[in-house]
Amino acid sequence: MKRTLQDYEAVFGQDAIHQLQQVSRDLVGARVVHVNSTRVGGGVAEILTWLVPFMNELGLEASWEVVAGPPDFYQTTKTFHNGLQGREVILSQSMIDTYEQTVAENADRLRANLEEADFVFIHDPQPATLLELCPHRKGKWIWRCHVDVSHPSRRVWNYLRGKVCRYDASIFSMPQFAQRMEHPQFIIAPSIDPLSEKNRDLTTDEINTVFNKLGISPEGTIITQVSRFDRFKDPIGVIKAFNLLNGAIEAQLLMAGGGAADDPEGAVVLEEVKEAARSNDRIHILMLPGDAHLTINAIQRASTIIMQKSLQEGFGLTVTEAMWKGKPVIGGNVGGIKLQVHNHHTGYLVDTPEGAALRIRELLRRPEKINSMGITARKFVTENFLLNRHLREYLTLMLGLRRGLANHLIAS
Ligand code: UDP
Repeated sequence: MKRTLQDYEAVFGQDAIHQLQQVSRDLVGARVVHVNSTRVGGGVAEILTWLVPFMNELGLEASWEVVAGPPDFYQTTKTFHNGLQGREVILSQSMIDTYEQTVAENADRLRANLEEADFVFIHDPQPATLLELCPHRKGKWIWRCHVDVSHPSRRVWNYLRGKVCRYDASIFSMPQFAQRMEHPQFIIAPSIDPLSEKNRDLTTDEINTVFNKLGISPEGTIITQVSRFDRFKDPIGVIKAFNLLNGAIEAQLLMAGGGAADDPEGAVVLEEVKEAARSNDRIHILMLPGDAHLTINAIQRASTIIMQKSLQEGFGLTVTEAMWKGKPVIGGNVGGIKLQVHNHHTGYLVDTPEGAALRIRELLRRPEKINSMGITARKFVTENFLLNRHLREYLTLMLGLRRGLANHLIAS
């Protein structure tokens, strides 16, 4: 459903909307193209779903393109992803050849649009070589990195660095992810859309209807992790933590996830998760379609505690979503989760399944703590991780690049 600026005024207030209109005044009519590798599944698709229409609401001409390819292409881009997040990977020349060939085929389809655009945002490594395939580009090109590149595999980063350092600027989610590159680097944390189907308020009836369909009771203690089935999200660690409770606590564990079109490892990890959960009938593995936003919203709202026990995390929109719903989060002590989970205040940061089990027990013994952490969490998201702040930073960056102020901004 299309949402208008007036709809958002009710959430952010009139001043915030006026501010966005003012910042975007000199960008009205600017052609902006965002490119990523999937329309459904994962945080980038989630963000582009609101960012592109919102830019259009402000008078820019924004569009969203997706690069696609055969399974070999996704194997290679997943290797990039794993390598950027510090895993040992093998990146062969033939993988690079397939990758470059696939992006070149996509470039033939996208070139006219991209070369004419005033701003092109390339999200993550998948479409990164598009820049060199658009020699007559008119606008500014920005590489937006969403993953945790604090300790990348040298082989993968050396290859990708050669591609992305040609951009006019790059954006990372945290200062710790910034890299040695000559061009300006901006730090912009992601955000959520509070009015989306994933995050809007729900009635108790709506929540109950979702749980009825799932065949799960919404009553009692529910512990949940929502994530793609990806090893970086440590689903097995969450199950271990739950099993460490030894049934001493009356609770259900919901592991809700789905695939992303650009993630070829999901099916294998899902099988591992099912195997790990087999002996415990209080664990529910929910394989959801990519558009199950209402279902995820209801699950998060019915949960007592949300887990996001990632081993590496660029940001973790699932953490923001949970906190927006007033839930304490027990999260991995990594990456963007550390921007959101303030230990003892909005949740707990943990390093191991044992640590997670300890914190679950501790919280369940103290319902007042669950409540107070939830209130703090909601406030923290309201102040820091809603789309108005995120959009304002993107617009400011675009103005800065257009006016050639980027170096000045970085230096000041
Ligand atoms: N998500 C979803 N369905 C799923 C799993 C995740 O819609 O089965 C959503 C989730 O609600 C969040 C996004 O995908 O909005 C995941 O973003 P996050 O930054 O947490 O992780 P990523 O998948 O990008 O690594």
